[in-house]
Amino acid sequence: MSKFVAPPPGSGLDFESSPAYQRVIQNFEAAAAVLNLDPNTAARLRRPERIVIVSVPTRMDDGSVKVFTGYRVQHNDSLGPYKGGIRYHPEVDVGEVCALAMQMTWKCAVMGLPLGGAKGGVRVAPLRLSYGEAQNLTRRYTAEISNIIGPEVDIPAPDMGTNERTMAWIMDTYSARVGKFCPEVVTGKPVDVGGSVLRAEATGHGLVYTTTYAAEEIGLKLEGASVVLHGFGNVGTHAALAFSRRGARVIAVADVSGGYVNEKGIDVRKFVDYASKNRTLEGVDGADKVEGDSVLTIPCDVLAPAATGHVITVENAAKIRCKVLAEGANGPTMPDADPILERNGVTIIPDIVCNAGGVTVSYFEWVQGGMNFFWREDEIDSRLQQLLRGGYERSREFARRHKTPIRTAALAVGIERVDRTMRLRGLYA
Ligand code: NAD
Repeated sequence: MSKFVAPPPGSGLDFESSPAYQRVIQNFEAAAAVLNLDPNTAARLRRPERIVIVSVPTRMDDGSVKVFTGYRVQHNDSLGPYKGGIRYHPEVDVGEVCALAMQMTWKCAVMGLPLGGAKGGVRVAPLRLSYGEAQNLTRRYTAEISNIIGPEVDIPAPDMGTNERTMAWIMDTYSARVGKFCPEVVTGKPVDVGGSVLRAEATGHGLVYTTTYAAEEIGLKLEGASVVLHGFGNVGTHAALAFSRRGARVIAVADVSGGYVNEKGIDVRKFVDYASKNRTLEGVDGADKVEGDSVLTIPCDVLAPAATGHVITVENAAKIRCKVLAEGANGPTMPDADPILERNGVTIIPDIVCNAGGVTVSYFEWVQGGMNFFWREDEIDSRLQQLLRGGYERSREFARRHKTPIRTAALAVGIERVDRTMRLRGLYA
């Protein structure tokens, strides 16, 4: 009988010992305990179904070849084809990608989408790549994973360090390999090549919609509310613009270059334009520069982490002074920090609900691509709100009924749906 042998520490394959993976497992165990989840199902769900690690040889502008490491992890496809973003970041590793893939399974499930969970990544500093190098790397990475992705199999999307341009290159490379135009292989593409309107804005807008649901519950008005954003890329900029359209005051933002504070409110449009032109906020006028992570502890009504994971820890949790924590980033809060935030009365919108706007409009894009029939912006926006409201309410209702924190509740709603499907499908042996 074959037996799973854990890969040795240091082999680069020991995803189970990675802090990122242990964080999602700790949250999974809490939700599984509330559900009294069948141990056989739990054993299957604790590990991804497939991990692919590839070398990505990339021609650099100086003529040299650098070999980067790329990953695609498929956690579970009980509900439908695998779905999940591709991250370019210097700290990407197998454990992080496995953790993010598992989170995607629960996110699609809690939102009621017919999709499973996956994630990809390349260990690379994207800001150091030229346009040509980024394209070379993306095309080779796509070629390396092209036998495990596909419109009915696994559909990538943008995540940190990647954007709609990256998705267009993936689509083009995949289409060339299969010999036909195949836009449904990725979502988050530019609208001109089969993308969906509102996909670029969807995660940021979803963050603001879910914040309004939480704000309603605690009697907080967004008009005049103070907002801090940690991360000013796709999610952070679209959230900042949407918050300011609702009359909120964005008093601090941070990106990889540092933090920028203006208690009177920053000029969001100007900051967004500056960041898109210069790639970071380094040198922007109209705010005092501080250390990036210090913005997390600025007193405010809404704090939205929208960059890397694990930024709210047991060390800084007691200093977090927000009313609503809107988790735009994936996994921004360490499990040990959660009880401290709860004790301090912080209303948490867990990542798998708060940032689910992105995968929801990705789902719409995939559906529209399959039909070759594209919806109007108002149709997409109202469907997005309907699904987000559903995911949020199901989580709140579970939390009330079982007296659990909302993070555990959101995961439990997702896990329960996957468990039901797995039971119906049975085990192919
Ligand atoms: P992005 O690459 O567009 O932007 C990331 C931002 O974070 C940039 O402003 C970058 O400068 C900043 N950043 C990086 N390291 C930082 C640090 N140490 N301190 C402060 N800021 C830092 O990425 P994105 O697509 O906006 O994704 C942000 C987060 O949202 C990620 O956790 C991602 O997984 C999550 N997310 C994204 C989407 C999506 O649709 N793009 C969907 C769901 C979740």
